Amino acid sequence: MAFKHENVADLYDIGVVLGSGHFGQVRQVTERSTGAQWAGKFIKTRKSAGSRLGVERSAVEREVELLQALTHPSIMALKDVFECRAEMVLIVELISGGELFDFIAAKDNVTESEAIAFLKQILEGVGFMHSKHIAHFDLKPENIMLSDKDAANPTIKLIDFGLAHQFKQGEEYKSMCGTPQYIPPEVINYSPLSTATDMWSIGVITYILLSGLSPFQDNTDEETLKNIIAMKFEFPEHVFSMTSESAKDFIKKLLVKDPIERMTAEECLIHQWIKPMTRKDMANRNRSSINMKNFKKFNAKRKWKMSYNMVWMCNRFMRLQLLSSAAKGELRDCESDSEDTESKPASLMRRRLSSSS
Ligand code: ATP
Repeated sequence: MAFKHENVADLYDIGVVLGSGHFGQVRQVTERSTGAQWAGKFIKTRKSAGSRLGVERSAVEREVELLQALTHPSIMALKDVFECRAEMVLIVELISGGELFDFIAAKDNVTESEAIAFLKQILEGVGFMHSKHIAHFDLKPENIMLSDKDAANPTIKLIDFGLAHQFKQGEEYKSMCGTPQYIPPEVINYSPLSTATDMWSIGVITYILLSGLSPFQDNTDEETLKNIIAMKFEFPEHVFSMTSESAKDFIKKLLVKDPIERMTAEECLIHQWIKPMTRKDMANRNRSSINMKNFKKFNAKRKWKMSYNMVWMCNRFMRLQLLSSAAKGELRDCESDSEDTESKPASLMRRRLSSSS
């Protein structure tokens, strides 16, 4: 895909902010020529190799390349890319249904069968990605959205391919990226990664979805990481009393230390919990349900943490704008490259130390 050098605002009407990431904002945009609605992901890019602010252009190029290879109903589609000196804009499919976890938390009761309908779509999207030797490496509730929450069967859309990687034949890839709660032992041990890394995250997401508990989360990130290495997780009866045995079996086959022993997305799709072979299995799924009371609590806490991070990021952004306008005597739109020495909360130290060997 050729990157366009025109001013994005000449072709699109830039609308409201839909969300924010570490390096920019996602806004609703309207294509002037057709009136069609899209989302624009505005990413600040680094002006120089020595700069710590913004994303390297090559990283955005990689995200674009991967998105282009991933045309699937469960994966956010890419339409166009614009670039100027200090910013790149990805025009992508507008996903208006919000996050899957928020959709579920708004309900009174959700059976395992209903949860499985969503999980199946996630597995199909991830399976497709893995068939192209692409791993997402940042699967978590914030990156699982719904195209339209008012549809009879809302469609899952996986977003944020900023940490994704396409494996070349025989390549050994290591990375320390990810979000503590969702990363497997091989990330913490700085061992070679594979598409199996995503499958662990799906195990964690399923565990949370059914119970409202995060299997390894502790008071600090350090303790969480220790729990992961020690494989310290269980299914407390008071929380999992509404959960079927097949569901627990499904999770146990994903939260496996050795990546080779973990179920693949394809294997998940034929696991008896996802694809029941008997009437008894089917009935169990309909009888079992999500622990809604706990799930709502988990989701509220998650949203609170996200808004805390958002306020922190806004403050930082404002400070940078003020610093740069003070230095230049004006506020400029498409450039921000001041260095920031303020310390970050641990949850924001997400994109760190990534290497390939
Ligand atoms: P992070 O720093 O978390 O990696 P990022 O800069 O890579 O974020 P995204 O995660 O892709 O950005 O998007 C940030 C937020 O914008 C999302 O959490 C979501 O709320 C919203 N968003 C992203 N893409 C879309 C879309 N296509 N349609 C609607 N909203 C979106």
